Amino acid sequence: SIVVIGSLNMDMVVRTKRAPEAGETLFGQEFALSPGGKGANQAVAAARLGAEVTMIGRVGKDSFGSGLLEVMKQEQVHTGYISQSESQSTGVASIVLDEEGENRIIVVPGANVEMKPADIEALESVIRQAGIVVMQLETDLNMVEAAAAIASRHGIPVILNPAPAQPLGDELLHQVTYLTPNETEAGILAGIPVESVDDAERAARILLQKGVQHIIVTLGSKGALIVNASGSLHVPGFPVQAVDTVAAGDSFNGALAWQLTRGKTLDEAVRFANAVGALAVGKAGAIPSLPRLQEVKQFLQE
Ligand code: ADP
Repeated sequence: SIVVIGSLNMDMVVRTKRAPEAGETLFGQEFALSPGGKGANQAVAAARLGAEVTMIGRVGKDSFGSGLLEVMKQEQVHTGYISQSESQSTGVASIVLDEEGENRIIVVPGANVEMKPADIEALESVIRQAGIVVMQLETDLNMVEAAAAIASRHGIPVILNPAPAQPLGDELLHQVTYLTPNETEAGILAGIPVESVDDAERAARILLQKGVQHIIVTLGSKGALIVNASGSLHVPGFPVQAVDTVAAGDSFNGALAWQLTRGKTLDEAVRFANAVGALAVGKAGAIPSLPRLQEVKQFLQE
């Protein structure tokens, strides 16, 4: 089974002709609340494909928190280890979308960053039973490090999706089995500019040197690049009409985890994850855009 350790956020999206200036009040055109957070998206992505998924995370004792728990349950994700904070609010992203398609986003992580190393250490028995552990960086970095150390101690593979990008210590990188940056994140982690697939490969080689076992750089419509001790392999993407790229990376990570727990080779798993990512960009929204297994099979004509 898959254990996702990560964030749960409520996205509050306001559509407006233009963003207000300081001190100004405007009428907007539309408002939507949508469940998200990279952890929640990745958990649902895997569950929709048929994976057994347990999520470890933290929400507030507020209506957004209970709403997120409800969504996760509906999606068949085990929620028994999603705790509720006494003092912090549920993570939120306040998103202003203007007519030009520009967005302005403020994230308040709230309860997501309240989960500390001691909290994850108390869940060692959950981690050691996992087939794979999946994490991102919207939670406390010390907690992520503690979780990776536990997984590594028990020989459980770890997927780390290093988003949003931040510099990571060598000790953590050593404990990561599969690192899944996009091109920008790969550049930041490796400390070099990444503007082409060749640059992405150079960045991945630097990360390989730092002790990561497999680096999978996602390349948007170009698919993904696998770099490990046996070499590099570019796994091409699937051409689709991109409607909304939100959650492309999240769907990719959820799909990758599911394929790996089913014993697929990394090449096969990445090809499948590319298909899931392509289907997710073909639809609007985060969680609403995540495909079910049947759709993926049809898409791949299996
Ligand atoms: P992120 O969303 O994290 O920036 P990417 O843009 O690299 O990550 O997208 C993740 C994956 O989603 C890609 O590796 C690819 O499989 C798929 N994908 C993203 N954009 C497209 C696209 N325009 N067409 C087809 N597949 C896409």
